[in-house]
Amino acid sequence: MKNPDCIFCRIAAGEIPAPKIIDDQWAVAFMDISPLVRGHVLLIPKGHAITVDELSREQAAGLLGHLPSLVKAVKAVTGCQGVNVLQNNGIVAHQLVMHVHFHIIPRNPGDEFHFNWPAGKIAPAQAQHLAEQIKAKL
Ligand code: AMP
Ligand code: ZN
Repeated sequence: MKNPDCIFCRIAAGEIPAPKIIDDQWAVAFMDISPLVRGHVLLIPKGHAITVDELSREQAAGLLGHLPSLVKAVKAVTGCQGVNVLQNNGIVAHQLVMHVHFHIIPRNPGDEFHFNWPAGKIAPAQAQHLAEQIKAKL
């Protein structure tokens, strides 16, 4: 379902122009308007959903089924050495556009994109407990 106030729904519907790469029943991919690096692409579901956990399994499959070939094509065109696939949910997680989107970000040594990765420690028993709690909620 389309949300008329949502910029990505309007791009998906062709009401706002964007350089599109994919446009099918489930998904649209297009160039990010303010790329972090050259070749920064967004992959979005056609229907309006704010966060990834709102997607049905069918919607997610239709959307993410495009990921391998899209990443491959971005790598081929940009010649990048690696790729980050990034997906932000919620303002606290740096989501600015409230329609699910996957960032495909080509990476090269010394590029401009940096993030903090404060790897911590967890006791095995604690990890096991958390895994069981999360599993019970699936
Ligand atoms: P996020 O912080 O994960 O919500 O990222 C939103 C992304 O959408 C940013 O990288 C923006 O540059 C991008 N964006 C916003 N408006 C447009 C637009 N009209 N066309 C293409 N990309 C857009
Ligand atoms: Zn939307």
